[in-house]
Amino acid sequence: MSFGSDSVQVHLPLAALDKCFRCRKTDAKLRVCSSCGEVLYCSEECQKKDWKAHKSNCGKTVRLDLETYYPFVAALQYTNHLLLLHRPATLHPALERKILNSPNPGSTEDILLLPDGSDEGSRIILLGDKIEESERDTPTWWPTARSAQVRNKLMRRIMTEGNMLPIVLSTALALVTEIYSTPHSRTDGARLRLQSRHSPIADIGIAKGPIRVTSKDRLSYMLKENSEFILGQDPKEHCWIYFITLDGHEYILDCGMFAFNMATGVNAKEYCQPATALPPYTWVPVMPLTAGWNPKHRFSVLRNVELRKATMVMMRVGTKPMRHGPEEDYILSWMEYVGGRTCTKLEKATMMELLQDNSLVFRLNLITREYQNFPQTPADVTVSVDLDPDQDPSTHPDFNRQAQAQERYLKAKTKQLRKGQISAKQWDRALDRWLALKRLDEVRREAAAASRR
Ligand SMILES: [Zn+2]
Ligand SMILES: [Zn+2]
Repeated sequence: MSFGSDSVQVHLPLAALDKCFRCRKTDAKLRVCSSCGEVLYCSEECQKKDWKAHKSNCGKTVRLDLETYYPFVAALQYTNHLLLLHRPATLHPALERKILNSPNPGSTEDILLLPDGSDEGSRIILLGDKIEESERDTPTWWPTARSAQVRNKLMRRIMTEGNMLPIVLSTALALVTEIYSTPHSRTDGARLRLQSRHSPIADIGIAKGPIRVTSKDRLSYMLKENSEFILGQDPKEHCWIYFITLDGHEYILDCGMFAFNMATGVNAKEYCQPATALPPYTWVPVMPLTAGWNPKHRFSVLRNVELRKATMVMMRVGTKPMRHGPEEDYILSWMEYVGGRTCTKLEKATMMELLQDNSLVFRLNLITREYQNFPQTPADVTVSVDLDPDQDPSTHPDFNRQAQAQERYLKAKTKQLRKGQISAKQWDRALDRWLALKRLDEVRREAAAASRR
């Protein structure tokens, strides 16, 4: 099947540093065209000879560093969660009912095994009578909360539960559709591209796989009136956005860990710009950009031409949105393919609604060029940890999880080197990256310790 094959053009960025575009030589030191960053040559001679053919596709490129751009994407996903709170159909049951027990940090009496017969447990929140919306996050909602801070954090964790598939998928799809759809941006002929450490992003997609969460960090719910058990965010169905650079580094953007009490976040205040009108959050949950978790599955979005065409047809300016047709069917069947299950009618409707909203946010940001006002260097992005009162930053699961992932990454690379599967140069690069992540980790520990003083 092909969508709007004549009228929609999908742009695929360079996928690999493999051969000269002119002479196809593979063994030379290849250089990227400095103007567009999207073609490779072995020599100046080849570049000159190819200019006539390449000219029409070449153009000034604005490169945004993933390290400074990602809080924008995180803030958008958080906004999606808040938006869905206003829908009666997607409102979380714990936000409209009174909490009857005391699931405070450190308490263990509310941690019970899941009723599915597995050896996994969760913290059970017992829910009673309905409350008014205005009573949410007040002592009426949760009378036994240890402090207002503890109560507010639990509320925000609950707010980020659920709808993971539509939120993550629609964000990735909207990002790719708006940024990578045309060789030139809609405004001034300059195209926008993401990069990391001077290497262009070559693939963007969805990674999916089970993650390990301790029982005390996992939430589930029980309705007192009928003893109905409601599973909270499921760590078996976890997904996030991955970015792979041309030189082979992978970064992951995981905004779904706050529900599991992994409470790192960024200050996104400077990402709130007039046109896109995201709320000026001073803290949005997102795991720091990192690498090394091996997902069970990866689903490319950037390199899925049919999916991108279908989305472009759906989101085209001037067409009535939400037009049901083969494009929508295609997008929704992709969602079920990624999810590995049948999605509910409500999830599908949520997906299409968020796809439209999120596309608009990325589009407005591009057209108005508000990305120019984003922080310019990674050092300007403030990462902090929203700790529980009794948590020591150095034992915080975020740090430990990251540190372990980094150790595993280097160990795996060393093993590959010994087996001759990677070159010494590739191992050097892995070591560099490991050292850089370690340094970053130290900086974060200091920041977390300072925030507690
Ligand atoms: Zn050449
Ligand atoms: Zn070029």
